[in-house]
Amino acid sequence: MFKLRGHHLFCLLGYRGMGYSEEYVKNMTFLHQTLRSNPKTLIQIVNGPDQLCEKFPNSGVYHCQDENIYKQDAAILKKMGLEIGEILMWEEIEERVREFIVPNDIQNICSTCSWRTYGVCEEGVREIHAGKGLRKIN
Ligand code: SF4
Repeated sequence: MFKLRGHHLFCLLGYRGMGYSEEYVKNMTFLHQTLRSNPKTLIQIVNGPDQLCEKFPNSGVYHCQDENIYKQDAAILKKMGLEIGEILMWEEIEERVREFIVPNDIQNICSTCSWRTYGVCEEGVREIHAGKGLRKIN
């Protein structure tokens, strides 16, 4: 089982192998590809830093405890009808995306994120709507 905070449910959709450091990318790619190959993997929703934040490099400005990031987590969980502490399968999270999320939500909820302008996160939402699941990362 993996522990994930709210906004990382979105980040995984648009993940293309980019990240803050080599170690961060290695960890996220492992998680992402595990979910891709086994969508029944269990996820527990947590409040604050999770298994992806653990690998955030010491060299960068640590934003994982910022108030606005907690607000972003909460907004995403609310929109998806999820609660802190809830455990569900990744495929159920994809179902919630299809039911409750539209690509433009990225623009509204992730307005402060530097990765947003790449457009990959909205593309990720569109792909889930199209029933494609997560992408293969080479
Ligand atoms: S815009 Fe940033 S916070 Fe939002 S899903 Fe993409 S990477 Fe994650």
